[in-house]
Amino acid sequence: MQPSKHVIVSVLVSALVWWWLRSSAAALACFLMGVFIDLDHVIDFFYNHRRHLKFQRFFTAFEFEVLENVFVFLHSWEFALVWLALLLSLPDARQPVALGLFVGFVTHLALDNLFNRHARWAYFLFYRLRHGFAGKYYYGAWEYRKRLKYVRRRRG
Ligand SMILES: [Zn+2]
Repeated sequence: MQPSKHVIVSVLVSALVWWWLRSSAAALACFLMGVFIDLDHVIDFFYNHRRHLKFQRFFTAFEFEVLENVFVFLHSWEFALVWLALLLSLPDARQPVALGLFVGFVTHLALDNLFNRHARWAYFLFYRLRHGFAGKYYYGAWEYRKRLKYVRRRRG
């Protein structure tokens, strides 16, 4: 999902977190987590464009182009599951800020999972690892073909 949409949804979800926990720190943590998970794309961009770095292609690279390798380490449901297990088993882990961070994390991941048309298991670290972080498997067959067409059209 596009960063601007993550900002809008994060503002709304953070307001709910504030209403739920009555904690400004928790709401802020939720907002920051909901938006800045996407910073892991920066690693992918630098890795894939390390030979010919073109910053003007930063956003089109994620929307339309084919990245040979996609890591997006933070976009992993495994982290959410481990985190949930910790929240459920350790009462001390249930601090407002930790809950806000968790809600922001899960919301972001769920939205990406719903609205980005990637492979079904794209947001599982083990899936990406199993396929050597190859972009082809992350995108899934349909999206991969669509992106290849875009890249070929751009090349003319
Ligand atoms: Zn994301």
